[in-house]
Amino acid sequence: MVDDVLVIGGGVAGIQAAIDLAERGLKVYLVERFPSIGGKMAQLDKTFPTGDCSICILAPKMMECFSHENIDVLTYAEVTGVSGKAGDFKVKILKKPRYVDEEKCTGCGDCVSACPYINLPDEFDMALRSRGNIFIPFLQAVPRVVMVDREHCVKCGNCVAVCDAGAIDLYQKPEEIEIHVGAIIVACGFDSFDPSGIKEYGYGRYKNVITALEYERLVCASGPTGGHLDRPSDKKTTNSIAFIQCVGSRDVKNNPYCSSVCCMHATKEAILAKEHYPDMETYIFYTDMRAFGKGFQEYVDRAKNEYEVRYIRSKPGEITEDKETKNPVIWYDDTVTRQVKRLEVGLVVLCTALVPSKGVKELASILGVELDKNRFFKIADPLYAPLDSSREGILVCGYCQGPKDIPEAVTQAKGAAARAAEVLACLGA
Ligand SMILES: Cc1cc2nc3c(=O)[nH]c(=O)nc-3n(C[C@H](O)[C@H](O)[C@H](O)COP(=O)(O)OP(=O)(O)OC[C@H]3O[C@@H](n4cnc5c(N)ncnc54)[C@H](O)[C@@H]3O)c2cc1C
Ligand code: SF4
Ligand code: SF4
Repeated sequence: MVDDVLVIGGGVAGIQAAIDLAERGLKVYLVERFPSIGGKMAQLDKTFPTGDCSICILAPKMMECFSHENIDVLTYAEVTGVSGKAGDFKVKILKKPRYVDEEKCTGCGDCVSACPYINLPDEFDMALRSRGNIFIPFLQAVPRVVMVDREHCVKCGNCVAVCDAGAIDLYQKPEEIEIHVGAIIVACGFDSFDPSGIKEYGYGRYKNVITALEYERLVCASGPTGGHLDRPSDKKTTNSIAFIQCVGSRDVKNNPYCSSVCCMHATKEAILAKEHYPDMETYIFYTDMRAFGKGFQEYVDRAKNEYEVRYIRSKPGEITEDKETKNPVIWYDDTVTRQVKRLEVGLVVLCTALVPSKGVKELASILGVELDKNRFFKIADPLYAPLDSSREGILVCGYCQGPKDIPEAVTQAKGAAARAAEVLACLGA
């Protein structure tokens, strides 16, 4: 029996679960498949309904987690095998090569400036900015070390030559690690649904039709435009924006469930546009307004009354593009007036469905746990065991268990940490 715990996924839920367990004195391994912890919350500008700066809240938690003496953070790593049973799991982890020695790299960035190849899409900024072959994933990344994109690197050696720390190893190999834990917490979150399959909305075809996560980067002061709402087609600041809800959510052809956070994040994003530019015209096309949390309805009311955000109850049928101005034109049935209408705006933001993260089926199979019909992790009993998976000793929390916002993900993470400790105590670990 061992009382160490593995947490899979370093988003806000995984970070919180790891910190809570570590504070109880338990040893925690946190495995994150991206080069930095932080998850989606790190990409958001502000958070509803308080309007707090997302990264300002998250960054101290990321650091607390990374520097905690009881937590081993393994980034750019994935779980490849699990055997054994509750209290006694053997876990195989593959640490992918970042071609940089994490212990030696100081994050000074000299190598980044030395790389002559700088035109690759920056994943964190949703390809709205470019990055080099060697890069720091984002400003507040934890750990703050660079990585090399070996697919594009031509091995010119410029970065190696300027690194005084001798940290770059262009021939680094993947590393296999085996750990022994008593319980596992899964917190692998979500991905955004790719709306390019919904042809009538023109995503990928019309430059000024973007997704909500792209908008979050655009409106963020530390984002690619410094917070200016410069639209992709001409880099000019737009004067009108429409948000379209339920793109791929509540849609039998794609994802039948409600993604739960989009009504509120669209409201927040429209308010942010108004705060940056008081004269901006903002429209939200919605199916039903799901403002169910504490203070949420009041937030929507403020958006309507104080910020003059216009809510239109309709699911647009099509978006076309004005060939000259590149303005998107929205065609919709106004379900209140029962008229077909058109609205031309400078920028359209698609609030896409949020779907289980890529590779969730493979992860579930490695863990030997079941998924539900929408590919979220199945829970043992929604009333009495809401954080237990279908296998003893494996807990689930955050968005990977079902759609939810940050406070709910954190609440679940704290519950999962307490439940993991309880399971271990019952097993006598
Ligand atoms: C556009 C947008 C705006 C939003 N605005 C708000 C807001 O204002 N307020 C609010 O409360 N909520 C908001 N949300 C929702 C919020 O982002 C989520 O509630 C929150 O991020 C969930 O946290 P999580 O840790 O469960 O998942 P995530 O943030 O997705 O983190 C999961 C982590 O697990 C990692 N991972 C995935 N698979 C694996 C694997 N196999 N192995 C290892 N690691 C893995 C991922 O890389 C990621 O780091 C918004 C969402 C979107 C899309
Ligand atoms: S690899 Fe070397 S040069 Fe690059 S950031 Fe790290 S320490 Fe600095
Ligand atoms: S070796 Fe690769 S990463 Fe380093 S400077 Fe050359 S191209 Fe860039």
